[in-house]
Amino acid sequence: MINLTDIQPQSDEIYLDNNATTPVLPQAAEAAIHTMNLCYGNPSSSHMTGIRAKYILESTRKLARQVTGATDGEIIFTSGATEGIQTSIISALIAARATASLITKPVLLYGATEHKAVPETLKHWNQILNIGAEVVAIPVDGNGILDFDFIAKHVGNALMVCTMAANNETGVFQDLTALQNIIRSNNPDVLWMVDCVQALGKISLDLTNTSIDYAPFSGHKLYGPKGIGVLYVRDNAPYTPFIAGGGQESGLRSGTENLPGIASLNAIFKLLNDENDDTFKSHDVLVSYRAQLEKTLREVFPAIVFNHDFAYSLPTTLNFSVKGLSSKDIMDLFDAAKIRVSSGSACSSKVSGSFVLDAMNKPRWQSEGAIRMSFGPANTQDEIDKACAAIKDAVSALKNSCLILSDADEIIDSNADGLQQWIYDQQCTWCYVDKNKKEILLIDPVPEIASKFETLVNCQDFNVKAVLATHLHQHQEDCAEMIRNVFTGKLSSESCDSLGWDKSVTQQVSLENDTLAYAITIGDKVLAKIDIPGHTDNSVAYLLGEAKQGRLAAEDIEYVFAGDTLQIGGIGRSDLNTSDSVQMHHSLRSLAQVITEHTLICPTHDYQQLFITTLALEKQTNPVLADVLAKKLSDEQFVEAKLELDQSINNDTQSALCGNIKADIEPSIDVDPGDFSQFLASNPDVMIFDVREPHEFEANRREYIRDQKIINVPLTQITHFVNTHKAAKTQPSYVCICRSGSRSDAAAKTLKRMGFENVYHVPGGFALLS
Ligand code: PLP
Repeated sequence: MINLTDIQPQSDEIYLDNNATTPVLPQAAEAAIHTMNLCYGNPSSSHMTGIRAKYILESTRKLARQVTGATDGEIIFTSGATEGIQTSIISALIAARATASLITKPVLLYGATEHKAVPETLKHWNQILNIGAEVVAIPVDGNGILDFDFIAKHVGNALMVCTMAANNETGVFQDLTALQNIIRSNNPDVLWMVDCVQALGKISLDLTNTSIDYAPFSGHKLYGPKGIGVLYVRDNAPYTPFIAGGGQESGLRSGTENLPGIASLNAIFKLLNDENDDTFKSHDVLVSYRAQLEKTLREVFPAIVFNHDFAYSLPTTLNFSVKGLSSKDIMDLFDAAKIRVSSGSACSSKVSGSFVLDAMNKPRWQSEGAIRMSFGPANTQDEIDKACAAIKDAVSALKNSCLILSDADEIIDSNADGLQQWIYDQQCTWCYVDKNKKEILLIDPVPEIASKFETLVNCQDFNVKAVLATHLHQHQEDCAEMIRNVFTGKLSSESCDSLGWDKSVTQQVSLENDTLAYAITIGDKVLAKIDIPGHTDNSVAYLLGEAKQGRLAAEDIEYVFAGDTLQIGGIGRSDLNTSDSVQMHHSLRSLAQVITEHTLICPTHDYQQLFITTLALEKQTNPVLADVLAKKLSDEQFVEAKLELDQSINNDTQSALCGNIKADIEPSIDVDPGDFSQFLASNPDVMIFDVREPHEFEANRREYIRDQKIINVPLTQITHFVNTHKAAKTQPSYVCICRSGSRSDAAAKTLKRMGFENVYHVPGGFALLS
């Protein structure tokens, strides 16, 4: 296991994720350590050690009043903003129990872009306390500003209104004075909570001179440690303690106070109040930092779009998207280049957008591709200069990977060669490149990868041999056609059938079962097409391999693209409008006649990040398929067995159209990051298998393992690796590694599944090897 003290930031790390959490200011850390070491008393103790602790507590409360403008009301120390939100909402709802029944259709209003802590807490306690109100989001406009007309219309029935001073994803702030006017002119008594987490230290607050009833704050968003927060409660606002017990905080919040955390707030609030100290920068300086970052980003990403209007935003947040790049592309690259930012959507194989940008009605690609870059009011000019330089450096790696086009006339030697899997929301697009002949083809594209493909083609000046679909569902948008239209004039052929197959092809190859199939060439290989109706009436399979004297023998086929018909862990469904199970039965049998048990099958869906499969593997887990291949089933028996399989599909999920399919996966063998050096020393022949994308690899090559054998096999190209290393399954051993351990885990599982014998993986990845 790694020693705690060995877990450290990388040298020159550039931290631009301050809205998630800030670093702890040295003064704040010192205050906390001093308190832990020397002022460890319990503020409730009446001896002198306790009295000193109590002084720290109360003097911090005074300072909190100054920085929030709360000359009256309660200032309560909490564990953070989520607790403050909890307490405010519970207090308001318990009070509302008395009035809820008097209001027809009571509502609980919250801003649509609120932090999840707010709507989730409202829904939770509304249900638990049996309030029976409707929890309603106040819409926002394209700038993220709350809809005042909506508030005016609904606030009369509201038991509580929850809004935020500034948004954590975009920095968009609300005009609290105007908001107060609209709320109070329509409902003078409604309880109003304003989440002030992102505003403290960036906007001047004057709580007493507002009618805000509750205002939660969080220490770790303003250079304090995690686990300390402040809640302001207006005099006479209803209050119910969320935590009862020993009566601390005048009985408002029990539990021995987090004195080290409180002491760190003390240090921070003093700096905020000190006009002669420039730790916290003025608004104008922060605006100049933002302008500098904006300029740099516009230079490196000409296709950048900012997702919020700076006129309505705090200067410390820049939220942007770049057409053609996913947020994961940018996140991974920046992380490799030691620049920490965050993405609007979760980094998983399932794509989700940002609900904040969705509420602002931003286009889907902007929401899914959003990157949040946030600095803090204590950043320095030097840090911003370094950040800009690092961004420029990092982005050159994207140009070398052809993920963005270079404006210089340089020739880029992209490493695209062979087969790549581009996955979007568990759907696979397969892209095959012959680097020497500069030819490319695409199978089963989804719209979201269209601009990536276009950029790659233009960057390498590729000849687009074909853009194909393996099948089309009724009324389905035909993305392959859409992409073909983009390349009008550049495609090898313009006369395609509905799946994109060149109708004028005359070349034929004979297959293992002596049937003839039409084929196109790509580089030195051919791509032959056979019909495999069943899943849909138009389903086909494409066979890619080397034809010898006009024959594409089963053992010379490297990949089969069988669409939804053959998937990892199952057979595609055959109960759709244009399905036919009898035809599917025949198609499966005839497909099995022309490939081997070990031909790599590349499906159109990949629900578990396993990339590829083979008939041999499928037979092990799929008794119906095993029976089909052993020719044990009549058509009727297959139809019956297939019906049963299709009926077991969970139709509620998005992937139901193609079949919810699952394969058993053996876990990979972990190498604890703490033992990694030792592992390398005792396995000198092990090959480090770095599965990061080439731009990440280029941005951060990891010098400390320079002497080790290392290969960069991006996860997108693992299928190509499996195909080209069939003879190297016993030796060498591979230890898969990536940024966080998630991709390397997928790679290790895939290699093991494909028969590679000695495969390891490092959980936590490079993040824990710094
Ligand atoms: N509200 C906002 C706007 C936030 O940004 C956050 C943290 O991300 C929270 C509430 C929750 O704060 P805490 O982490 O202190 O519970």
